[in-house]
Order: sequence, then C-alpha cells, then structure tokens
Amino acid sequence: MPVWINRPPAPTEFAGIRLGRVQVNKPLEAIITCDHLVGAITHFARRRTQPCTGADCPWCLDAIPGRWHGYLSVLSTRTRSQYILELTALAAVAVADYEERKGSLRGAMIVATRIGNKPNSPVTCTVSPSDADLRTLPRGVNLEKFLCTIWHVPPVTPDPEPPVQPGRTMTIPLPADPHPTSPEALRFPLHPALTERRKGNGEAP
Ligand SMILES: [Zn+2]
Repeated sequence: MPVWINRPPAPTEFAGIRLGRVQVNKPLEAIITCDHLVGAITHFARRRTQPCTGADCPWCLDAIPGRWHGYLSVLSTRTRSQYILELTALAAVAVADYEERKGSLRGAMIVATRIGNKPNSPVTCTVSPSDADLRTLPRGVNLEKFLCTIWHVPPVTPDPEPPVQPGRTMTIPLPADPHPTSPEALRFPLHPALTERRKGNGEAP
C-alpha cells in the first residue's frame, strides 16, 4: 500500500540556487546580494571538487594541485534569479578591493566578462555602486553553508563531548509531581455532600 503524501515536501534551504561561472561570449551583469566575498582552496579529486582542509588535507598530501576561488551570491539583472558566482583569484581582486573600500558588497553591481573564446580564458570584473533597493533585494545566501552542501562536507566541526569528571554526578531537575501523595498535600476539602453523609454516619468529616 503506498504512503500518500498529498502536499509537496518543503523545499530544501538552497533549492533552485545554482553555482555559476562566467560564460564565454556572455558577459555577466548582476547585483551582489551577500555582504562579503568567501574564498577557499579546492582540489579536483575523485572526479569532483573537494575543499582543502589545510594541514591534514589528504589531497595536498597526494600532491593534487589546489586552486583558490572566490564566491558571491548575486541576483542576475537579466533573469532576476539568485545564484552563486564562482570567480578565479584574478577576477576576484576587484571584488575584494571594493569590499575593503566600502565594508560590504551588498547592492553593488558586478560586471564580469571572459576575455577570449576558451572556457578557462581569464575573466575581468568591475564592481561599482548601484541604485538597487537593499530593502527589496533578496537576502544573501549563507555561502559557507551552501558550499559545504555542494562539497558534501559538514558545515562545522561538531564540538567534542565534554569530558566526564570522576566523582561528579549530574542532577536532572524533575518536573513537579501532578499527583502529590504527601499527607500535607492530601488535606484537601471534601465535597460538601460527602461531608454531610459522613456526619450522618457518625464519621468524622
Ligand atoms: Zn589541500
């Protein structure tokens, strides 16, 4: 028997958000929705992009070359859809400079063009202020979390369990007992009818 679920499941956090690069012969014009540029070194290993994890990185130990990329969330002025733009180190220089000067990238216009006809030709970028309304501009994407999702790695290292100290016990507060049984608690007034009946039988009320 199938399990019928008559409403579509809630969309995942990054539903519809794609990672994009500047295309050949297709200059890109977009409004930046995030505050800051996020960058990371990645390796292309086992047929997919893997983040470099620093000193203990297995891909560095295997001498697989790493490359730095910068990431921004942007709103395309053509399609009005938000996506994540990946930039090479060279292309990201203008973005980093703008962020350093202004303190935030949100609302700035980015125009990026790939010079040449190859998919790996260099990209030039310009970043300038725009008249975008920050109140109606979509919220920027949590870039670190988005990247960890597409890289299939946990976003943060979970905190280690606190060590158990010998000789110490944990006290768990218990909820108040809804049916107290102490003699004090049992001294509640009887229903008047019952009190009258007890009197008639010679019982103490
Ligand atoms: Zn590495």
